[in-house]
Amino acid sequence: MDTIDWKNLSFGYLKTDFNVRSYFKDGQWSKPQETTSESIDIHMAATCLHYGQEAFEGLKAFRGKDGKIRIFRLEENALRMQSSCRGILMQELPIEIFEETVLKAVKLNEKYVPPYESGAALYIRPLLIGTSPQVGVKASKEYLFLVFVTPVGPYFKEGFKPTPLVILRSFDRAAPQGTGTYKIGGNYAASLVAGEKAHQMGYSAVLYLDPKEKKYIDEGGPANFFAIKGNTYITPASSSILPSITNKSLIQLAEDMGMTIERRPVLEEELSTFDEAGICGTAAVISPVERIDDIEENKSYKFTKDGIAGPVSTKLYNKLRAIQYGDEPDTHNWVTIVE
Ligand SMILES: *Cc1c(COP(=O)(O)O)cnc(C)c1O
Repeated sequence: MDTIDWKNLSFGYLKTDFNVRSYFKDGQWSKPQETTSESIDIHMAATCLHYGQEAFEGLKAFRGKDGKIRIFRLEENALRMQSSCRGILMQELPIEIFEETVLKAVKLNEKYVPPYESGAALYIRPLLIGTSPQVGVKASKEYLFLVFVTPVGPYFKEGFKPTPLVILRSFDRAAPQGTGTYKIGGNYAASLVAGEKAHQMGYSAVLYLDPKEKKYIDEGGPANFFAIKGNTYITPASSSILPSITNKSLIQLAEDMGMTIERRPVLEEELSTFDEAGICGTAAVISPVERIDDIEENKSYKFTKDGIAGPVSTKLYNKLRAIQYGDEPDTHNWVTIVE
């Protein structure tokens, strides 16, 4: 434990001491209980295994200069998990159970929250699965909610570096009226082949187009897309993208900075008119986009000069990080301090 090299942690699983669980049975959620076991014992016919009743969340805890631990946007993540529950007919998890379980998991593994100076953080992974056996296609009657944590390294080890994205027109992540707005494993299984293909070609992620018309920008793999054009922050509105909490936060910060916000369908052609582009999510906050290649159409859109991130993306990134680490005041009440 004393030997963790905080600065060189990757985004992987590192064992901590405890995870915390709550079970839904007979109409009630159990009091969240900690365990040291890394395994779960479930029925082989559980609905999560056969019919994909599984939703998850991803958020982070940060240690500030003052030594305090701050969890970023705890309630927003709880609300989003409730939306995922409604989306795939799972028992809706109460906000209080979500918050209590996360807080307990962080508190019990306090020593794994990386030090301020490292730029690393504690990644929190809440998971909800249907556990009752069903052979017919039906919703589960029982559920397990589990939260584990794992320390993750700074996303940008070599600085805030722009990366290339690729449009792969023969793949969709989600259907137009499907489950793209929910944070569920099924969407990820559906995106693995395209993601792997993009990586093999040297791109960091796929930039998905809207699955219906293939004309508009949807999102970048596990991260929302945004662009900067003059004093405007532009991000796609679509029925097949996941509402990113990082994006929501950046929108607020851009508004605070006096920028205009446009949340609307974004045509692919518009890419050539943008000054900066980025994808955003909990893992990296912002990954600036260097360029986007639409390989089947033989088009390429470039957003950076000399591989340096744009000034607005950089400013938004620094501002959000400062709030997460407690370096700047939390004026929007986004942070929960772990007592
Ligand atoms: C989790 C996720 C994001 C990012 O959401 P954040 O709340 O900002 O972490 C974006 N797209 C998809 C598909 C996701 O699953």
